[in-house]
Amino acid sequence: MVIDVYDPNYLAYDFGPAHPFSPVRLEMLLDLLHELGHPVGPMAPQPVSREDLLTVHSEEYVSAVEEADRGEPVTDPDRFGLGTPDNPVFPGMDQAARYLVGGTLLGAHLLFYDKAQTVIQLGGGMHHAQRDRASGFCVYNDLAVAIRYLLDHGATVAYLDIDVHHGDGVQTIFYDEPSVLTISLHESGQYLFPGTGEVHELGKLHGRGRKLNVPLAPFTEADSYLRAFSAVVPQALAWFRPDFLVVQAGADAHAGDPLADLLLTTQAFETLFQRCLEYADKFCRGRVLFTLGGGYDVHSVPRIWALLYLTIHGHPVASELPASWRQRWQERLGVDLPAAMHDPNPAYPPVPLREEIADHNRSITNRLLDSLMPYWYGSV
Ligand SMILES: [Zn+2]
Repeated sequence: MVIDVYDPNYLAYDFGPAHPFSPVRLEMLLDLLHELGHPVGPMAPQPVSREDLLTVHSEEYVSAVEEADRGEPVTDPDRFGLGTPDNPVFPGMDQAARYLVGGTLLGAHLLFYDKAQTVIQLGGGMHHAQRDRASGFCVYNDLAVAIRYLLDHGATVAYLDIDVHHGDGVQTIFYDEPSVLTISLHESGQYLFPGTGEVHELGKLHGRGRKLNVPLAPFTEADSYLRAFSAVVPQALAWFRPDFLVVQAGADAHAGDPLADLLLTTQAFETLFQRCLEYADKFCRGRVLFTLGGGYDVHSVPRIWALLYLTIHGHPVASELPASWRQRWQERLGVDLPAAMHDPNPAYPPVPLREEIADHNRSITNRLLDSLMPYWYGSV
């Protein structure tokens, strides 16, 4: 059984009209699913309590968010990452962020108590938030709170992050935790925020060999990405055999994304979502929680997350987007939106560059797998 999780309060997580993390993307998605004849019928979460947040965040940090939310001036933006250009403070921030965490935590509850086999949380995925600091548009780390809940109930969790940015917050919070396998595929931190996620970041203490990073070259296109994904993810899941899979399904690895340089198509995303479901079936009895994440291109993000939703629910994928939806959002946003669900075949990068990038990514993947073998099958 699939359960959708969503609450209109998610739309209040809004850093302002000039900020890329706009709730408009979510409104477009819900409207698109409605027009496609598959309206979302969600369960609504409650905002999480302070105690829930303290399972992964420091008390000082939660107090700082609450104070900033009450309008108290942020005296040291660098200390807690609040009041920065990435994370400006807005009224209602604490509550809106707690709703996002509540949705992901509800998803974990539903999976743990067998109320659902698959959950799609139509929000969240705030993977950059650290224990004691906001970062990269993320205030509270909903993924970490949900994973911590499952761990505290004796489960093991594999976390798969396909957002174009490294899932640094989740990795750091569970860096020494043996019951959490993290896998992040992202554009290399040499070129992109947050600058981490190198192959050598394998975890520490009992968590070593259980934090996997695939830093891909800029301009990586779909074929090379999917090869790296298939070389690493099923092998890691087959070894780890998690009780649950949590997937951060950010859409910013798409070619149109303004903040990053990977070149995935909507077709590639559909394949990725199918594989995630397939691996969940194969390695953890189908128990998987999907969240959204980054993704800043209004031309592609609603289509990608609609594909996620349709794939999870087993609905057919329409080839054309509803004309009424296009017209409404074109007028509202003043942009020209594509007519088709899927992208035309990309012309870039040209073949020599494509091969060079594919070779580079292959060597990164091999280096990662080589460095893991002693931890997985050796005597370390
Ligand atoms: Zn991102």
